[in-house]
Amino acid sequence: MARIVMKFGGTSVADINRIRNVARHVKREVDAGHQVAVVVSAMAGKTNELVAWTREASPMHDAREYDAVVASGEQVTSGLLAIVLQSMGVHARSWHGWQIPIRTDGAHGAARITDIDGSVLIKRFEEGQVAVIAGFQGIAPDNRISTLGRGGSDTSAVAIAAAVKADRCDIYTDVDGVYTTDPRIEPKARRLDRITFEEMLEMASLGSKVLQVRSVELAMVHRVRTFVRSSFADPDAPGMGDLHNPPGTLICDEEEIVEQEVVTGIAYAKDEAQISLRRVSDRPGVAAGIFGPLAEANINVDMIVQNISEDGKFTDMTFTVPSGDIAKALAVLEKVKATVGFDVLQHDEGMSKVSVIGIGMRSHAGVAATAFKALSEKGINIRAITTSEIKISILIDGAYTELAVRTLHSVYGLDKH
Ligand code: ASP
Ligand code: MG
Repeated sequence: MARIVMKFGGTSVADINRIRNVARHVKREVDAGHQVAVVVSAMAGKTNELVAWTREASPMHDAREYDAVVASGEQVTSGLLAIVLQSMGVHARSWHGWQIPIRTDGAHGAARITDIDGSVLIKRFEEGQVAVIAGFQGIAPDNRISTLGRGGSDTSAVAIAAAVKADRCDIYTDVDGVYTTDPRIEPKARRLDRITFEEMLEMASLGSKVLQVRSVELAMVHRVRTFVRSSFADPDAPGMGDLHNPPGTLICDEEEIVEQEVVTGIAYAKDEAQISLRRVSDRPGVAAGIFGPLAEANINVDMIVQNISEDGKFTDMTFTVPSGDIAKALAVLEKVKATVGFDVLQHDEGMSKVSVIGIGMRSHAGVAATAFKALSEKGINIRAITTSEIKISILIDGAYTELAVRTLHSVYGLDKH
């Protein structure tokens, strides 16, 4: 007998028929004798609709009321799934965040889970009850409902799995696992059987949209074995109930991966903007003077390149921000111009960041050189580079995104089965 948390995303619960299919996945695990808790998202498109309504009601709205409205989507699906499960003879009950309780901080609209008391859920398990929990929500210190930020029900599921010490957290979604790259760009992309927490964190942060970044962080910290799998697969197909190797991608510890490739995947993020400050005075405090105010304005600065100063007096500073933040960033920079001191401010939109990810890079030399050579052979100009122990990110002109992804995918042999 195992303890399993099953999470179903918006497309998996998009209508009553799909909810019935989800219920069959749940029933399969219950019938196998496992202890099961379920976390659901809102029906596909529901949260967008709710968010739009709050904006329509007033563009400047109270974040507590935003939460009161947008948390309702998950409440609907948790109740509906409980009804369907009961109709199939499964002992199920729906739960809102406050009823567990899932405690969060007070950052309404983007709250972080601070504590989940697993004991109540464990008591339910022992009574043979399947708890169907509304994802994406919790209760803030002000005793009001809070939400975890878009995509947050992944985080609800992983946090609950950690709290009850589940053997596995299954994230059911509309794809059947994590791929070496986006299959819409490279049809030769392969589904990975396993990927390490560290690599998945990079993949999620660098543009792959399969999981919310925060959920991967939590899984990594608490070592929650997390499985990405398809809810559209036939719930009763052979192997679906396999405890150790069901079809999908397991996100796990490095030790669980027998044959580690050097490169595991290629991620990309479109819509990056590049900003360059020319002739910035080269003295202590300028970087803080530039990036401090940008951070205060909540602008996510990503790649930062500072040139070596030729004359010891001036240097150039280049960095990227999401295209959507460019106007805000330029306004902030104009304001600090006098104190920081720079000559010209240049900016370019429509950039993409393409990243090569693999834990094997830690022990292999030449991975970056291979990427640079492959891109140059395709005539793709590199505008900026950043690296970490397990990834290389390259900024290029957005028009070359697809070509760069395919080129890198093939040069590291990810096409081969
Ligand atoms: N329904 C929420 C959203 O669309 C949470 C989630 O689906 O993970 O962002
Ligand atoms: Mg999601």
